[in-house]
Amino acid sequence: MQEDLILFGPPGAGKGTQGALLAERYGLLRLSTGDVLRDAVQRGTQLGLEAQRFMNAGELVPDSVILGIVRDHLSGAAAQRGVIFDGFPRTLPQAQGLDGLLVQLGRRLRAVLVLDVDDDTIVKRLSGRRSCPTCGAVYNVYFEPPRQQGRCDACGAELTQRPDDAADTIRRRLQVYHAQTAPLLDYYDAASVVVHRVDGERSIEEVQADLAPLLLP
Ligand code: AMP
Repeated sequence: MQEDLILFGPPGAGKGTQGALLAERYGLLRLSTGDVLRDAVQRGTQLGLEAQRFMNAGELVPDSVILGIVRDHLSGAAAQRGVIFDGFPRTLPQAQGLDGLLVQLGRRLRAVLVLDVDDDTIVKRLSGRRSCPTCGAVYNVYFEPPRQQGRCDACGAELTQRPDDAADTIRRRLQVYHAQTAPLLDYYDAASVVVHRVDGERSIEEVQADLAPLLLP
Protein backbone atom coordinates (compact mmCIF):
# COMPACT_ATOMS: atom_id res chain seq x y z
CA MET A 1 0.00 0.00 0.00
CA GLN A 2 1.35 3.47 -0.93
CA GLU A 3 2.02 5.75 2.02
CA ASP A 4 1.68 9.50 1.66
CA LEU A 5 2.79 12.42 3.82
CA ILE A 6 1.42 15.87 4.47
CA LEU A 7 3.88 18.74 4.89
CA PHE A 8 1.98 21.24 6.96
CA GLY A 9 2.55 24.82 8.09
CA PRO A 10 1.83 28.45 7.27
CA PRO A 11 2.75 29.99 3.91
CA GLY A 12 6.48 30.67 3.92
CA ALA A 13 7.27 27.99 6.51
CA GLY A 14 9.66 26.25 4.10
CA LYS A 15 7.33 23.47 2.93
CA GLY A 16 8.44 23.82 -0.70
CA THR A 17 12.15 23.72 0.13
CA GLN A 18 11.91 20.87 2.63
CA GLY A 19 9.44 18.93 0.48
CA ALA A 20 11.73 19.08 -2.55
CA LEU A 21 14.69 17.79 -0.49
CA LEU A 22 12.64 14.94 1.00
CA ALA A 23 11.11 14.02 -2.36
CA GLU A 24 14.54 13.76 -3.93
CA ARG A 25 16.07 11.83 -1.07
CA TYR A 26 13.28 9.23 -0.87
CA GLY A 27 12.10 9.15 -4.50
CA LEU A 28 8.66 10.53 -3.65
CA LEU A 29 6.41 12.81 -5.68
CA ARG A 30 6.06 16.30 -4.18
CA LEU A 31 2.63 17.64 -5.02
CA SER A 32 2.32 21.37 -4.36
CA THR A 33 -1.17 22.56 -5.25
CA GLY A 34 0.22 26.13 -5.25
CA ASP A 35 2.82 25.17 -7.91
CA VAL A 36 0.19 23.45 -10.06
CA LEU A 37 -2.00 26.58 -9.85
CA ARG A 38 0.87 29.00 -10.60
CA ASP A 39 1.83 26.92 -13.62
CA ALA A 40 -1.79 27.02 -14.85
CA VAL A 41 -1.90 30.81 -14.36
CA GLN A 42 1.32 31.22 -16.32
CA ARG A 43 0.07 29.06 -19.18
CA GLY A 44 -3.29 30.87 -19.20
CA THR A 45 -5.36 27.68 -18.98
CA GLN A 46 -8.99 27.54 -17.84
CA LEU A 47 -7.81 26.40 -14.40
CA GLY A 48 -5.37 29.33 -14.23
CA LEU A 49 -8.02 31.86 -15.20
CA GLU A 50 -10.35 30.48 -12.55
CA ALA A 51 -7.71 30.40 -9.79
CA GLN A 52 -5.86 33.65 -10.37
CA ARG A 53 -8.23 36.08 -8.68
CA PHE A 54 -8.37 33.97 -5.51
CA MET A 55 -4.60 33.62 -5.39
CA ASN A 56 -3.85 37.30 -5.93
CA ALA A 57 -6.24 38.19 -3.10
CA GLY A 58 -4.67 35.66 -0.71
CA GLU A 59 -7.91 33.67 -0.64
CA LEU A 60 -8.30 29.93 -1.06
CA VAL A 61 -9.21 28.43 -4.42
CA PRO A 62 -12.50 26.44 -4.16
CA ASP A 63 -12.21 22.96 -2.66
CA SER A 64 -13.73 21.22 -5.70
CA VAL A 65 -11.03 22.68 -7.97
CA ILE A 66 -8.24 21.65 -5.59
CA LEU A 67 -9.60 18.13 -5.09
CA GLY A 68 -9.79 17.72 -8.88
CA ILE A 69 -6.08 18.56 -9.16
CA VAL A 70 -5.15 16.14 -6.39
CA ARG A 71 -7.29 13.33 -7.85
CA ASP A 72 -5.57 13.71 -11.25
CA HIS A 73 -2.07 13.61 -9.79
CA LEU A 74 -2.73 10.75 -7.35
CA SER A 75 -3.86 8.48 -10.15
CA GLY A 76 -0.71 9.14 -12.22
CA ALA A 77 2.30 6.86 -12.45
CA ALA A 78 4.56 9.37 -10.64
CA ALA A 79 2.50 8.93 -7.46
CA GLN A 80 3.16 5.22 -7.20
CA ARG A 81 6.11 5.52 -4.79
CA GLY A 82 4.24 7.84 -2.43
CA VAL A 83 3.36 11.52 -2.37
CA ILE A 84 4.36 14.46 -0.19
CA PHE A 85 1.49 16.95 -0.16
CA ASP A 86 2.68 20.54 0.12
CA GLY A 87 0.04 23.19 0.78
CA PHE A 88 -2.77 20.65 0.75
CA PRO A 89 -5.15 20.03 2.48
CA ARG A 90 -6.01 23.55 3.64
CA THR A 91 -9.66 23.14 4.70
CA LEU A 92 -11.77 20.50 6.43
CA PRO A 93 -13.61 19.52 3.19
CA GLN A 94 -10.20 19.08 1.50
CA ALA A 95 -9.00 16.82 4.34
CA GLN A 96 -12.21 14.78 4.14
CA GLY A 97 -11.97 14.65 0.34
CA LEU A 98 -8.38 13.42 0.62
CA ASP A 99 -9.46 10.66 3.01
CA GLY A 100 -12.04 9.52 0.46
CA LEU A 101 -9.52 9.54 -2.39
CA LEU A 102 -6.98 7.57 -0.35
CA VAL A 103 -9.55 4.87 0.44
CA GLN A 104 -10.63 4.68 -3.23
CA LEU A 105 -7.04 4.38 -4.44
CA GLY A 106 -5.83 1.96 -1.76
CA ARG A 107 -3.41 4.44 -0.15
CA ARG A 108 -2.90 5.65 3.41
CA LEU A 109 -1.49 8.65 5.25
CA ARG A 110 1.71 7.90 7.04
CA ALA A 111 2.13 11.16 8.96
CA VAL A 112 1.64 14.90 9.06
CA LEU A 113 4.93 16.84 9.35
CA VAL A 114 4.38 20.31 10.78
CA LEU A 115 6.84 23.19 10.31
CA ASP A 116 6.28 25.60 13.18
CA VAL A 117 7.17 29.19 12.27
CA ASP A 118 6.14 32.41 13.97
CA ASP A 119 3.94 34.94 12.10
CA ASP A 120 6.61 37.69 12.35
CA THR A 121 9.18 35.46 10.67
CA ILE A 122 6.65 34.54 7.97
CA VAL A 123 6.03 38.18 7.11
CA LYS A 124 9.78 38.82 6.72
CA ARG A 125 10.33 35.67 4.71
CA LEU A 126 7.46 36.30 2.30
CA SER A 127 7.80 40.06 1.88
CA GLY A 128 11.53 39.60 1.18
CA ARG A 129 11.10 36.69 -1.22
CA ARG A 130 12.20 37.26 -4.81
CA SER A 131 12.50 34.65 -7.52
CA CYS A 132 14.09 34.29 -10.90
CA PRO A 133 11.50 33.78 -13.67
CA THR A 134 14.15 32.20 -15.88
CA CYS A 135 15.90 29.58 -13.74
CA GLY A 136 13.65 29.39 -10.65
CA ALA A 137 16.34 30.42 -8.10
CA VAL A 138 14.84 31.93 -4.94
CA TYR A 139 16.36 34.77 -2.84
CA ASN A 140 15.36 36.83 0.16
CA VAL A 141 16.28 40.50 0.30
CA TYR A 142 16.74 40.26 4.11
CA PHE A 143 18.27 36.81 4.60
CA GLU A 144 19.81 35.74 1.28
CA PRO A 145 20.14 38.75 -1.02
CA PRO A 146 21.48 38.31 -4.57
CA ARG A 147 24.96 39.76 -5.16
CA GLN A 148 23.57 42.46 -7.43
CA GLN A 149 20.28 43.96 -6.26
CA GLY A 150 17.31 42.68 -8.27
CA ARG A 151 19.36 40.31 -10.49
CA CYS A 152 19.72 36.55 -10.39
CA ASP A 153 23.24 35.38 -9.39
CA ALA A 154 22.92 32.29 -11.55
CA CYS A 155 21.60 33.69 -14.83
CA GLY A 156 21.43 37.49 -14.52
CA ALA A 157 17.66 37.73 -15.14
CA GLU A 158 15.62 40.39 -13.36
CA LEU A 159 14.10 38.97 -10.16
CA THR A 160 10.34 39.12 -9.62
CA GLN A 161 8.06 39.09 -6.58
CA ARG A 162 5.04 36.78 -6.40
CA PRO A 163 1.87 38.92 -6.60
CA ASP A 164 0.58 37.22 -3.44
CA ASP A 165 3.74 38.20 -1.51
CA ALA A 166 2.51 41.84 -1.29
CA ALA A 167 2.16 42.99 2.37
CA ASP A 168 -1.69 43.06 2.52
CA THR A 169 -1.99 39.71 0.83
CA ILE A 170 0.53 38.11 3.19
CA ARG A 171 -1.57 39.24 6.16
CA ARG A 172 -4.70 37.78 4.55
CA ARG A 173 -2.96 34.47 3.80
CA LEU A 174 -1.89 34.19 7.43
CA GLN A 175 -5.43 34.92 8.65
CA VAL A 176 -6.80 32.25 6.34
CA TYR A 177 -4.15 29.81 7.57
CA HIS A 178 -5.01 30.34 11.24
CA ALA A 179 -8.77 30.26 10.67
CA GLN A 180 -9.14 27.39 8.21
CA THR A 181 -5.95 25.36 7.94
CA ALA A 182 -4.33 25.17 11.39
CA PRO A 183 -7.48 23.54 12.91
CA LEU A 184 -6.88 20.52 10.65
CA LEU A 185 -4.25 19.34 13.12
CA ASP A 186 -7.09 18.55 15.56
CA TYR A 187 -8.80 16.59 12.78
CA TYR A 188 -5.68 14.46 12.25
CA ASP A 189 -5.13 14.02 15.99
CA ALA A 190 -8.70 12.81 16.34
CA ALA A 191 -8.16 10.39 13.43
CA SER A 192 -5.00 9.06 15.17
CA VAL A 193 -2.74 10.11 12.30
CA VAL A 194 0.81 10.66 13.57
CA VAL A 195 1.59 14.40 13.77
CA HIS A 196 5.28 15.39 14.11
CA ARG A 197 6.08 19.02 14.88
CA VAL A 198 9.49 20.49 14.10
CA ASP A 199 10.88 23.95 14.72
CA GLY A 200 10.89 25.54 11.25
CA GLU A 201 12.71 28.71 12.35
CA ARG A 202 16.16 27.11 11.97
CA SER A 203 18.39 26.68 8.91
CA ILE A 204 17.29 24.57 5.94
CA GLU A 205 19.88 21.92 6.89
CA GLU A 206 18.83 21.74 10.54
CA VAL A 207 15.15 21.37 9.68
CA GLN A 208 15.95 18.74 7.05
CA ALA A 209 18.06 16.83 9.59
CA ASP A 210 14.99 16.59 11.85
CA LEU A 211 12.57 15.64 9.10
CA ALA A 212 14.55 13.10 7.07
CA PRO A 213 14.81 10.37 9.75
CA LEU A 214 11.04 10.50 10.25
CA LEU A 215 10.62 8.98 6.77
CA LEU A 216 12.87 6.00 7.32
CA PRO A 217 11.01 2.67 7.18
P1 AMP B 1 1.07 28.27 -1.83
O1 AMP B 1 2.12 28.34 -2.88
O2 AMP B 1 0.86 26.89 -1.28
O3 AMP B 1 1.25 29.31 -0.74
O4 AMP B 1 -0.31 28.65 -2.56
C1 AMP B 1 -0.50 29.89 -3.20
C2 AMP B 1 -1.99 30.17 -3.35
O5 AMP B 1 -2.59 29.13 -4.15
C3 AMP B 1 -2.78 30.15 -2.05
O6 AMP B 1 -2.74 31.38 -1.37
C4 AMP B 1 -4.19 29.82 -2.57
O7 AMP B 1 -4.78 30.95 -3.20
C5 AMP B 1 -3.88 28.81 -3.67
N1 AMP B 1 -3.84 27.43 -3.12
C6 AMP B 1 -2.76 26.58 -3.10
N2 AMP B 1 -3.08 25.41 -2.52
C7 AMP B 1 -4.38 25.52 -2.16
C8 AMP B 1 -5.29 24.65 -1.49
N3 AMP B 1 -4.93 23.43 -1.07
N4 AMP B 1 -6.56 25.10 -1.28
C9 AMP B 1 -6.96 26.32 -1.71
N5 AMP B 1 -6.15 27.19 -2.32
C10 AMP B 1 -4.87 26.79 -2.55
